[in-house]
Amino acid sequence: MKAVRFFGHKDVRVVNDLVKPVPKGDEVLLKIGGAGVCHSDLHIIDEGTVVGTVFTLGHENAGWIEEVGSDVKDYKKGDAVLVYGPWGCGHCKPCQQSKENYCDHQSEMAYGGGLGLDGGMAEYMLVPSSRLLVPIYDLDPVIAAPLTDAALTPYSAIKRSIGKLTADEYVVVIGVGGLGHVALQILNEVSASSIIACDVTEEKLAFAKELGAAYVVNSKDANAAEQINKITGIKKAKVVIDFVGATSTIDLGTKVVGLDGDLTIVGLGGGHYQYNMSGFLLV
Ligand SMILES: [Zn+2]
Ligand SMILES: [Zn+2]
Repeated sequence: MKAVRFFGHKDVRVVNDLVKPVPKGDEVLLKIGGAGVCHSDLHIIDEGTVVGTVFTLGHENAGWIEEVGSDVKDYKKGDAVLVYGPWGCGHCKPCQQSKENYCDHQSEMAYGGGLGLDGGMAEYMLVPSSRLLVPIYDLDPVIAAPLTDAALTPYSAIKRSIGKLTADEYVVVIGVGGLGHVALQILNEVSASSIIACDVTEEKLAFAKELGAAYVVNSKDANAAEQINKITGIKKAKVVIDFVGATSTIDLGTKVVGLDGDLTIVGLGGGHYQYNMSGFLLV
């Protein structure tokens, strides 16, 4: 079968002769409908950030069940499913809590299809356990694939702060890109807080308004923090989620987050976080 394979640092090739896997036990073979291309793929290709030698790329996957191993009872051929991205050991405490992205053994194993093991940029993909599948029923796998990462990642960031996202509070979303624009939609559905969206282009700020941001601030403005703090008032923002992760956006987050607030950095922008207690109290 055809596949897009990672062979090593900056070495990606399309191959046509990969053997179609056969599932056994709890394994599931998926006919791929959609496999998202993610910025993390560039980290893998350019920086070699995952354990594993040669493997098929693609960690945002959805498709239809093609064949199941003998132990799989809950799925049948043709079922539409998403594949949960990070595959943990399945046994440690985080894995038992369905947080396989925080598996204790992540640093010592290849932890997902397209993340060291064969992923979804292929005609078929072998998923090691049916526990990693999410049924999507009538949703089209072709367009649903990015939900496994571009939506699940902001959802996780929002969920950990959900208790603070009450109607009297403000939430700041920094970066209205692939993840940020989904975050705005999720926030609209699950929280009552007023949303302040930040980005550096007017086009994205206009898009943020379409997606439900009550306020938008251009984070390129030298006084972006002051603009946000003027909106939020003395208690500042209760939750700030930074989908960029550059030093400048992290700095912005520290200036606008309130006491007992959450500043969650999601973006892999390579920025540095400088802890300064007086910055939190006085800025
Ligand atoms: Zn990704
Ligand atoms: Zn684990």
